[in-house]
Amino acid sequence: MQTLLNDLKREFERFLKSKGNKITKSRFDIIDMIASYGTHFEIEDLVRWISSQNKNIASRSTIYRTVKLLQDFGVVREVIKLNNRTIYEFVVGKQHHEHLICINCGKIIEFYKQEIETLQDQVCEEHGFTPVNHRLEIFGICSECKGKTYENRME
Ligand SMILES: [Zn+2]
Ligand SMILES: [Zn+2]
Repeated sequence: MQTLLNDLKREFERFLKSKGNKITKSRFDIIDMIASYGTHFEIEDLVRWISSQNKNIASRSTIYRTVKLLQDFGVVREVIKLNNRTIYEFVVGKQHHEHLICINCGKIIEFYKQEIETLQDQVCEEHGFTPVNHRLEIFGICSECKGKTYENRME
């Protein structure tokens, strides 16, 4: 992971330069923080977590701005907007996957099915369509939340 992150930082630096953005140490520190925070995150949670670790890393607005830049760069992607939340994910070191999203508790479950991938490729081929990327999100109720609703009904 460390090699991946170092390569990423080098390329991100090039990207920032090409876009005329400032190269600051705090931007790279934010990458480290995102990488250790976990894959799915809301920016507000990330901001709170980073300042609980070390207040001096970056301001709230720098964190927001850096996440946007990382999104443009392609290593952070928006997973979903759910109610008023926007959940992002850091894709470095991760295999392609899809998401099951619980509309009750917000839990995100990752899955990968080769059959689904193959079917999608077939659909594209049938339409003479060249896929670039795709995402699949299934919204529903997770097993834990389903258990709770069921218990409530039994009372
Ligand atoms: Zn749930
Ligand atoms: Zn994910």
